[in-house]
Amino acid sequence: MINFAVGPVQMAEEIRAVGAEEIPYFRTPEFSALMRENEDWMKECMGAGADARALFLTGSGTAAMEAAVINLFDAGRDRLLIVNGGSFGARFAKICGIHHIPYEEIRLEPGRALSDGDLALWDGRCREAGLTGFLINACETSTGVAYDMEMVGAFCRRNGLVLAVDAVSSFLADEMRMEEWDVALALTGSQKALALPPGLSILVLRKAAIRRVEESRAESLYFDLKEYLKDGERGQTPFTPAVGVLLQLHERLAGIRRRGIPAERARIRAQAEDFREKLGDLPFRIASESLSSALTPLTPVGTDREGKPVPARRIFEILKDEYGIYICPNGGELADRLFRVGHIGNLTPADNDCLIAAWRDMQKRGLL
Ligand SMILES: *Cc1c(COP(=O)(O)O)cnc(C)c1O
Repeated sequence: MINFAVGPVQMAEEIRAVGAEEIPYFRTPEFSALMRENEDWMKECMGAGADARALFLTGSGTAAMEAAVINLFDAGRDRLLIVNGGSFGARFAKICGIHHIPYEEIRLEPGRALSDGDLALWDGRCREAGLTGFLINACETSTGVAYDMEMVGAFCRRNGLVLAVDAVSSFLADEMRMEEWDVALALTGSQKALALPPGLSILVLRKAAIRRVEESRAESLYFDLKEYLKDGERGQTPFTPAVGVLLQLHERLAGIRRRGIPAERARIRAQAEDFREKLGDLPFRIASESLSSALTPLTPVGTDREGKPVPARRIFEILKDEYGIYICPNGGELADRLFRVGHIGNLTPADNDCLIAAWRDMQKRGLL
């Protein structure tokens, strides 16, 4: 099997080896010391600065999205601007709806980048509109669109908005410079470019976010980040964490630091560029104005032997069932128009060759 999904992704052998070990008891000085290193290294990878904090939540990326929203923002005080360019942007809106936090949306058609013009409509009007915060997915994974986070950071600074960023799929694939871009909170999950098993999410908070958490009245036991801030000071979590995944995280981050964080980003970027070059004249159109290194979204433009358009979903199924290759299908309205190929996880250019060869073979068979 070769897995080009956008999470869970292929894991390196040394990471799987850690996962094969027994899980140790965790209320110990040894585990606390390891967690403090995890915290420091996550802050480093996010470009967060020394006075930031990293918190570890047992739950997938969506758990961290919900925790971020309810700990930073308050239904009575805040009003948010949300960039909604696909299903992950829509998820932020849904979370706000459930928690009665008012919001406005910047809606983008699938594949469209966020432009200066989209933000200009709100520039200078945020205060009078009562806006206090901004939610965005650095990469809208459902459509493979990376947003210009430097532009977003500058907009939020100008307009006094607290910026919270879902960096689940962009983390380690694209740049994240929390301090430079004035990102108050950024979050990620274990099963994307960290290439660990799913189940762990990580929130990195700078001063402005920490202050908000400390003042928050988050109505939740499990997601009240005040407790995580407090226990994290001694390298612990309020509840049993995903101990095994945290041990794997430590191994993974140690490896990334040995090679250098920029080297890991460069490796993923090279994997993406290699794939895009090899696409050649295959009957696909790249369906994003602004690509992330994490994935390539593709729309099939060819026809089968009978001259019928080839649905994207069908390509996913044939690759899975007949070639043992997983790409990432889309759901809903985009199911027939879009699929995605991931470049994160333990993949190499040789894996790209296998996928391209499978498509060439499908062409020969009149399936593409
Ligand atoms: C994968 C992903 C998530 C998290 O999804 P889970 O299924 O909860 O792990 C959140 N946001 C983005 C942008 C993602 O790519």
